[in-house]
Amino acid sequence: MFDLKPQDSHPEKAGGGGRSGKRGFDYLIVGAGFAGSVLAERLAAGLNKRVLLVDRRPHIGGNAYDYHDESGVLIHRYGPHIFHTNSQRIVDYLSRFTEWRPYEHRVLAQVDGQQVPIPINRTTLNRLYGLALATDEQAAAFLASRAEPVDDIRTSEDVVVNAVGRELYEKFFRGYTRKQWGLDPAQLDRSVTARVPTRTNDDDRYFTDTFQQMPKHGYTRMFERMLAHPNIKVMLNTDYREIRDEVQYEQLIFCGPIDEYFDYRFGRLPYRSLRFEHKQLDQAQFQPVGTVNYPAEAVPYTRISEYKHLTGQEHPKTSITYEYPAAEGDPYYPIPRPENAELYKRYQQLADKTPGVTFLGRLGTYKYYNMDQVVGQALALYKRIEAAERGEPVQADRDGLDGQAR
Ligand code: FAD
Ligand code: UDP
Repeated sequence: MFDLKPQDSHPEKAGGGGRSGKRGFDYLIVGAGFAGSVLAERLAAGLNKRVLLVDRRPHIGGNAYDYHDESGVLIHRYGPHIFHTNSQRIVDYLSRFTEWRPYEHRVLAQVDGQQVPIPINRTTLNRLYGLALATDEQAAAFLASRAEPVDDIRTSEDVVVNAVGRELYEKFFRGYTRKQWGLDPAQLDRSVTARVPTRTNDDDRYFTDTFQQMPKHGYTRMFERMLAHPNIKVMLNTDYREIRDEVQYEQLIFCGPIDEYFDYRFGRLPYRSLRFEHKQLDQAQFQPVGTVNYPAEAVPYTRISEYKHLTGQEHPKTSITYEYPAAEGDPYYPIPRPENAELYKRYQQLADKTPGVTFLGRLGTYKYYNMDQVVGQALALYKRIEAAERGEPVQADRDGLDGQAR
């Protein structure tokens, strides 16, 4: 059905195929997002493996895919993607494929008829309450007077109420979270709202990571350079199920949803989806910062993002994206809560007993990971493969397989 024999086009690379008497690929990688693309690049360039990378979407880059819309403005098809990390190792790796443009993301929240900084900081408090808090200590004392200490912080409600009290929790977090997840914060792990800190200073950046820069020519260009290796063949518009019996390969790396791979044997893992509404406007600027959040439950979307802030592009027009949370649609977010972690564990145990396949990435390992964490996870897996290949003992890995970027 398909002519998928890379040794036909790259005879000099044909070595590995003969090992087991099979022709074909060393690795079939499903999913051309960060997880699959980084691993494909490493296996091809680092170990001279022949890789077939498939994605059912019509493009590479996964959720980080960007493109120029009809107006010529560079936008992100799946909502705003801001790169930030504390890991120099991850920056060094990606820098092989892109230059960078410094960008510090700032977000305002539409609350009580005004737009104020989120994460909540001293400016937020002064504006909302007409105060003149001048120091960290004064802001901390104000928050302490409102905070409702929670002994055992388990949920996303606990985290915020413990830090800032119920009123600010309701203004900034309860409605947004109910919309975004279709669940009350009390039903979600603490890790979800803990992504957003509370500050007593006037730092209004969304992230405080040591490295905050965007790929200078966009994510898609970076992925193109990552995948431009003669050992990597990319097939788009191709679902794994369409080709799994048509292609010969030794090892499978699956970066799609793990429950889908196992035909939902234990039931569906819940994922949250979004509907993106992209708009092109005949004006140079729409809003003062990259993203404005709308926590009110009465507003059907969660946030509006304007890409020119992120990319630095100069253009007489601008393009924005509204995010409408949805139960149905592409799986964008694993939903962190105990019963889902339990269900995932069952799939993980099944995966451990299934030879020849490794699961990777946000969908494959059901983890609410940022881009840098997924890159870290892929690099860590590569290290293990490389060590095994060379017959070396697998070193205790400082970066682990948990993808935590440091
Ligand atoms: P994905 O990018 O989802 O790639 C998986 C790919 O697998 C997909 O392209 C899919 O089509 C393909 N696939 C799945 N199943 C199959 C199959 N059966 N056959 C073929 N192909 C298949 N991270 C940040 O660091 N900063 C941000 O600002 C940020 N903003 C975000 C905003 C939104 C709205 C979302 C949804 C995510 C955001 N993220 C952000 C997270 C970031 O998108 C992910 O960390 C990253 O894209 C995950 O990469 P991945 O390769 O694991 O998964
Ligand atoms: N959140 C909120 N109000 C905000 C911003 C965030 O309630 O103004 C909560 C919400 O539950 C959200 C989570 O914090 O899903 C994490 O926010 P983040 O901006 O990191 O979400 P992402 O960019 O991953 O969608």
